[in-house]
Amino acid sequence: MIKLRTNDLALLDGKPVFLEKLHVGRPNIGNREKFSERVNDILDRRWLSNSGRYMQEFEKAIASYVGVKHCIVVTNATIALEIAIRALGLQGEVIIPSFTFVATAHALQWLGVTPVFCDIDPQTYNIDPARIEALITPRTSAILGVHVYGRPCDCDALEQIARRHGLKLFYDAAHAFGCSYQGQMVGNFGDLEVFSFHATKFLNSLEGGAIATNNEELANRARKMTNFGFTGYDQVDGVGTNGKMNEVSAAMGLTNLETIQELIAVNQRNYRQYQQELEGVPGVRVVAFDEAERNNYQYLVLEVDEETAGLSRDQLTQLLHAENVLARRYFYPGCHRMEPYATLFPEAAARLPETERVTARMLCLPTGTGIQSAEIIQVCELIRYMLVHGMEISQKMSRISKGPAQ
Ligand SMILES: *Cc1c(COP(=O)(O)O)cnc(C)c1O
Repeated sequence: MIKLRTNDLALLDGKPVFLEKLHVGRPNIGNREKFSERVNDILDRRWLSNSGRYMQEFEKAIASYVGVKHCIVVTNATIALEIAIRALGLQGEVIIPSFTFVATAHALQWLGVTPVFCDIDPQTYNIDPARIEALITPRTSAILGVHVYGRPCDCDALEQIARRHGLKLFYDAAHAFGCSYQGQMVGNFGDLEVFSFHATKFLNSLEGGAIATNNEELANRARKMTNFGFTGYDQVDGVGTNGKMNEVSAAMGLTNLETIQELIAVNQRNYRQYQQELEGVPGVRVVAFDEAERNNYQYLVLEVDEETAGLSRDQLTQLLHAENVLARRYFYPGCHRMEPYATLFPEAAARLPETERVTARMLCLPTGTGIQSAEIIQVCELIRYMLVHGMEISQKMSRISKGPAQ
């Protein structure tokens, strides 16, 4: 037993179980020798960016892994979204979920396109197709779905709505590299999809992202925009930006992609272990992945039900942080509660009841190659202890918070 009495909890009177902090999204690092070899080659050849060898190899490897015709690697997913918005020619309003990382909304707002927040389906945590049509106006130009935690959106339903209303459809697939929907890899849906290879994502290229599409014309337009609009040596045929991925990032991405099956296997093993260790713990549920599909198991997500648990998600977070388990509230708050959206759309919260409820319940725990199996057992034992003694701990916590601070 890790804790004998509730006062042994680090937040109350005890010592943290972990001496070193356990992080969510600790970077996975593939074969170091291979990466170093490639970096040395880059330096030897003095080709650091601009459609270099590794950038091209990385694009081909992603396209082949995803089974998509075109892949354009970009500096990061936020720039990739911005380029996508321009390449799709979007204007006016775009319907998106509020339960996402703020970059989804920012990419639109940054370009003067208004994000219109749609509520989510509380079973899937993804944009709820049944609520989209009520938000469509003459200004609506697209739907932007987010495959939250790598669990794909209801792509069929979204496709039908987009088609019926003549809207573009694209996806923020930042969480979903390596995942499938009805047996087809994410990256093949809508007009295009955007991946993130940020350091904290399970497949990283230090910083990086990609646009995947089966539409050649769209791919050509996006590629041009990634490189200032250049079409030839001294020829520019439209506005563009600089979204080029550098060679060291591409080499990192390529190297990590070579060990992706091992990364997924580690994540899956961790997922199974968390599921097993937390089975029957009152008030928490490990969010399940559909085993009939391909998953990257990148996020280990708990849903906390305060009524049963006796502790709120935020109390559990505070208790875990004191033990050096740096669980993260993904996503909290919803984008509609962040600026500038809170000021621009003060009415949004009232029409996003499921988003409001879910943002108070979700908690991501450490997984990936940065955590050992024995540590997962300890984390789960801690959570079990906290929830079994939820009421008592909650009372003690409220006494502390009413203490010296007042
Ligand atoms: C990480 C993330 C992004 C941003 O990706 P970057 O590569 O860091 O720009 C966008 N959307 C979602 C859902 C993300 O999780």
